[in-house]
Amino acid sequence: MSVLVTGGAGYIGSHMVLNLADAGETVIVLDNLTTGFEWLIDHRVKLVTGNVSDTQLVEKLIAEHDVEAVIHFAGSIVVPESVENPLKYYKNNTASTRDLIEACVNGGVKHFIFSSTAAVYGMVGLEPVAEDVLLNPASPYGKSKLMSEWMLADVAAAHPMTYGVLRYFNVAGADPEMRSGQSTAGATHLIKVAVQTALGHRAKMSVFGDDYPTPDGTCVRDYIHVSDLVSAHALLLDHLRKGGESTTMNCGYGRGFSVDEVVRTVKAVTGIDFIVEHGPRRPGDPASIVAGADRIKALGWQPKYDNLEGIVEMAYKWEKYLDTRNDRPSIL
Ligand code: UDP
Repeated sequence: MSVLVTGGAGYIGSHMVLNLADAGETVIVLDNLTTGFEWLIDHRVKLVTGNVSDTQLVEKLIAEHDVEAVIHFAGSIVVPESVENPLKYYKNNTASTRDLIEACVNGGVKHFIFSSTAAVYGMVGLEPVAEDVLLNPASPYGKSKLMSEWMLADVAAAHPMTYGVLRYFNVAGADPEMRSGQSTAGATHLIKVAVQTALGHRAKMSVFGDDYPTPDGTCVRDYIHVSDLVSAHALLLDHLRKGGESTTMNCGYGRGFSVDEVVRTVKAVTGIDFIVEHGPRRPGDPASIVAGADRIKALGWQPKYDNLEGIVEMAYKWEKYLDTRNDRPSIL
């Protein structure tokens, strides 16, 4: 039996592959390599290059490799891009997920784990957000993921499949052994941008808004280490394999840091003082979004890297490692 990981050549997917391969699982990666990198994939697993919407291909893979579970990461993830090009998101996220689920139902896949996002919540208050609040995604990205969540719930009610949905908060850091890390070109995420600025790849960076109703006026986010995130998937898979019920849960530590705190931490960890401007707000940013983490903790999740300095340190180390590669992915 094997586990099919879609998007396994991407940032989070490649860490999932490491987690599964380290645990001795047989893993097949399906990735179209548009944003992923073949060299990020652990050599112990098989890569199939293709689209998750290619139902024929997926059904063939399921049958050939006796796929018991699918962990679905493949998709598009840039919020502002989804505002400019919503149809790309409804195609790459919603429609593709629909086709993938169909192939899984046809192939008799038992468990489906789906990477969703805190963007399904939209604007929330300053308190940690629980899974059962009213969902009101503010972007096509958030909506495209929420529609997939709904499809999964309907399909699991109609077919013998159980599912787990994880709503990710702000994922950062890199594999502690430096076997993988965030490598995508044109990164927009705060910690990645800050370490690239520390390394001189960017002349300066900007803090987007400092008049939010938060303690220091900058936005607050729940930054979670990528290895802890993937260990939550492994735990969820174990839960489903043991006959556990389908479930949807936040994946974050339940505490937040402001943009200014993150920038200060990057300066302290790297020992480099780079130029930071305070600019206008970025459209669509909630003031604060922190995970209510009761559900995931009740599942038995024990994160190992809940430490902002450590997360930044690993992101920084990975960025320096990329600099040593001849085929370094472009920075901007
Ligand atoms: N941010 C910033 N400057 C940057 C990138 C991000 O001030 O160059 C802020 C952004 O406005 C948000 C927080 O950092 O308040 C986290 O943004 P990111 O894009 O990392 O993740 P998001 O929370 O949007 O998923």
